Amino acid sequence: MTFDLLIRGGTVADGTGAEPFVADVGISGDRIHAIGDLAAADARDVIDAAGLIVAPGFIDVHNHASSQAEGGILNIPSADNSVRQGVTTLISGNCGGSPWPIAEHLDAVAELDIRQNYGLMVGHGTLRAQAKVGHHAIDDEGIARMQVLAAHAMDEGAFGMTTGYFPDFVTTDEIARVARPIGLAGGVYASHIRCEGPRLLEAIEEAIDVGERSGCPVQISHIKCYGVDAWDKAQQVLELIDAARARGLNVHGDRYPYVAAFSGIANVVPSALRVEAAKRGGLEHLRDDDLIDQVREGSIDYIRSLGGPDKLMFAPLEAIPGLDGRRLAEVAEERGQQPWDTAVDLTIDGGVSCMFFVMKEENVQTFMRHPAVFAGSDGHLRVFGKGVSHPRNYGTFPRWVGHYGRDLGLFTVQEVVRRCAAMPAEKFGLADRGLIAPRRYADLVIFSWDRIIDCATFEDQHRYPEGIEHVILNGRSAVRDGETQSGGFGRVLRLH
Ligand SMILES: [Zn+2]
Repeated sequence: MTFDLLIRGGTVADGTGAEPFVADVGISGDRIHAIGDLAAADARDVIDAAGLIVAPGFIDVHNHASSQAEGGILNIPSADNSVRQGVTTLISGNCGGSPWPIAEHLDAVAELDIRQNYGLMVGHGTLRAQAKVGHHAIDDEGIARMQVLAAHAMDEGAFGMTTGYFPDFVTTDEIARVARPIGLAGGVYASHIRCEGPRLLEAIEEAIDVGERSGCPVQISHIKCYGVDAWDKAQQVLELIDAARARGLNVHGDRYPYVAAFSGIANVVPSALRVEAAKRGGLEHLRDDDLIDQVREGSIDYIRSLGGPDKLMFAPLEAIPGLDGRRLAEVAEERGQQPWDTAVDLTIDGGVSCMFFVMKEENVQTFMRHPAVFAGSDGHLRVFGKGVSHPRNYGTFPRWVGHYGRDLGLFTVQEVVRRCAAMPAEKFGLADRGLIAPRRYADLVIFSWDRIIDCATFEDQHRYPEGIEHVILNGRSAVRDGETQSGGFGRVLRLH
């Protein structure tokens, strides 16, 4: 037997959660062919993995690589910031928005030299826009139109449907009924829930309800307690999830291992007021006499819920002078304004990206520990060194493994590998990936358990992780000896 690639002497954490074992892994073509003592085998190429962990490639089912603007795979097919984390598969389309038509986008991606496997979910907001049901609550006929499009998306290979950022007039009934054809076709319902703050528990209940009514497995996207009003609710969230699982619902959460969210300054202004201002012709109408009191009140309350204006940090590398990496408290003082006033000004001026330090470390760990929670970056693709970012874009998976697994002792190596590869693969129906086993695709990450660590910080975000030596994608080297390799051998994935 001559293998195309032989990985010699590594410690295999195969994704099942079983105790790691020393073995060789033989790869033929794009598949794993044999695992064991292969000392007698020949190979065209050999990687010496002695002292390293050989694991299934990490699978990121929560990301924004489908973005057709900045940070999407169409613009950045090399995806270095994700590949260098050991991520070999992305499932995108999260938080309610996706490209459309699904097949057209997937075909366009297939034309590129992509360096990861790539699949897509369809956004509920996208279905709404495509069904042209209007910006209001809809009737049976509108729901039927969306159902047809949802079924079509599944026919074109979608892995499920996502929701997020939907207006209050979108009812639970609408989401559950539109999700029916998704569930019938075996797709997941991934929910950026209606509210992660004061109405967190109701929103978790709603996502579970949608799952039970639609037949979809449920994925709670970036599970969190957003803001000080929700900080004491983590245990109750997990009790709701445990109860649903006990009733037989397939429900999980994904978590990026950081305490700050990444979004626009506009979040500081209640969304209904932004919609109203836009209707009047532009965000400058936020300062209209009949709106300004509500804008002030809403913005002050939002900043209070963060824990104060020093919990909002303008993204490093932000192009607007004087903001780059600084806190709202400091910038407002410099401008001689109240923090809410500065935030509203910046919203009107076109917005700016921010880190919102809205989470409590203890809650992040509580969620990560829970057996139904696995890794997911919520990240974007980035060109190294360029533009605003969030450390999760470079560090999510090595931070799960190195910081939380090894350093804080939350997980054994075998358990954290399961959380980063096998669990998301199983949840999303990636039957041939996520485990090291014969006949599975040869998607692997080879890393040092002693050295693996994220290096990107909130202040210095464009930093590759350390300790990840090799990434193998469909049997080919995407990262070799810590260096990215040229060539695109990622595949477009379709659920059916
Ligand atoms: Zn989201």
